[in-house]
Amino acid sequence: MAIDIKALKEAVQSAYAQHHAAPGGENASYIPYLANVPSTLSGVAAVTVDGDIVAAGDSDFQFAIESISKVCTLALALEDVGPDAVQDKIGADPTGLPFNSVMALELHEGKPLSPLVNAGAMATVSLVKASSVEDRWSRILGMQSQLAGAQLALSDDVNHSEQTTNFHNRAIAWLLSSAGSMYCDPMEACDVYTRQCSTLLTTVQLATMGATLAGKGRNPLSKLQVMKPAHTRYVLAEMTMEGMYGRSGDWAYTVGLPAKSGVGGGILTIVPGLMGIAAFSPPLDPTGNSVRGQLMAAAVAQTMGYNLYAA
Ligand code: GLU
Repeated sequence: MAIDIKALKEAVQSAYAQHHAAPGGENASYIPYLANVPSTLSGVAAVTVDGDIVAAGDSDFQFAIESISKVCTLALALEDVGPDAVQDKIGADPTGLPFNSVMALELHEGKPLSPLVNAGAMATVSLVKASSVEDRWSRILGMQSQLAGAQLALSDDVNHSEQTTNFHNRAIAWLLSSAGSMYCDPMEACDVYTRQCSTLLTTVQLATMGATLAGKGRNPLSKLQVMKPAHTRYVLAEMTMEGMYGRSGDWAYTVGLPAKSGVGGGILTIVPGLMGIAAFSPPLDPTGNSVRGQLMAAAVAQTMGYNLYAA
């Protein structure tokens, strides 16, 4: 399907105009760095599989990737161990519980169910093939960068803020280990997971990640084939199951596209075969999704008529 770029520009501009200052929500406060990002920031962007870039607002502001990093590490684990092992060891179901739930693990005998909740994400980090902690980290950062088409970097501020407050995640890592669901040293997995959440990227770079996943793993800017074309479908399915925290089902019902959000205020949604749509604004709703990000990303998709279930 050809994309009408003029219509896309209008859709992005109108989504921004309508929703960039929508009220409600609060910055994440449990990670000190995130509490201090200016709440008024707001940006939206779409990047197509042909490399067209359309953006509005603060789309060049660098924010913390947070949970959206889970998508990138899943892509790498799929390359390293394959889709069957990911389904078997991690899972492909919604947990129905918050992203950092311990109860979800207890209920399923230590199987995380999804690579997009904290338990599953740390187990996914542990599945990545690596010879050392630094090798594990550099392979994960490499995958983030290749998906984004730009060299991403760790923010020492975000990482310090998280490494000094991530006690709950450390407990989850040990629980996974005791259940036989951790495949490297649990503190190594937690350390690298915390770093992967602490890289910075712009809304345009996030939309480029989406375009790479929409285009069967070929980055439209660098033209690099980042992952096997046959693997992107598993990433998109996992995003549909658990990408929007406790609103994943509502998002599928109303927007009908795979998506992933992060507590840094970013949201990525993907139109398979066509484009990535990303939005950013720090205030979050009670489930952890950016209030304005949801409105802007959904508005672009709806104006363009994109919904997998309405096709
Ligand atoms: N680093 C955050 C945590 O593990 C990421 C949370 C998120 O964005 O969902 O708590």
